[in-house]
Amino acid sequence: MALSGEKGNNARRRLTLKKNKKYLNKMKCPYCGHQDDRVLDTRIQRDGNFIRRRRECLSCKGRFSTQESVMEVFPLVIKKDGRREPFNKEKILSGIKTACQKRPVSLDQMDGVVERIAKWVVDHFDQEVLSKSIGERLMKEMFRLDDVAYVRFASVYRQFKDIHEFMNELEAARNKDDTPPFELTPPPQ
Ligand SMILES: [Zn+2]
Repeated sequence: MALSGEKGNNARRRLTLKKNKKYLNKMKCPYCGHQDDRVLDTRIQRDGNFIRRRRECLSCKGRFSTQESVMEVFPLVIKKDGRREPFNKEKILSGIKTACQKRPVSLDQMDGVVERIAKWVVDHFDQEVLSKSIGERLMKEMFRLDDVAYVRFASVYRQFKDIHEFMNELEAARNKDDTPPFELTPPPQ
């Protein structure tokens, strides 16, 4: 499906809203009908078109799986070397999982970051988006998520020039509140 111009943007936004509404509505437990659950595991298929979630009912503890199809039309991601590749939620989730290893961050929270990034990309970009822009946005999300995960992520994402720069990052992470105290910008390439 090729969408372009303002009409395309509107169509894309409608699809996103539809999907978000679906996402916000908790699944009804197939065993007891309770409407609140927690996500145990999230798997995104290689092609990125389907997301499978393993859930546990908060009432009867029964476990079940749901499969959601992705309805957004994502812009292409422009990599550093200029090549284009499809937007890939699985890639983003795996980066977050690595940064959050042994940290008190739930899969629900990581999943939330992926969904917010995806929504932001769909809402703000039409045909193409720089991978750098996604990286910066992701840094801000990591900053709010967990100090250690943020620093791990930042140290991989940015090439720290010296220890002072790294310490600045650490200090900022330690004194974090809801908004980052500085604009996160990647080093010049
Ligand atoms: Zn139940």
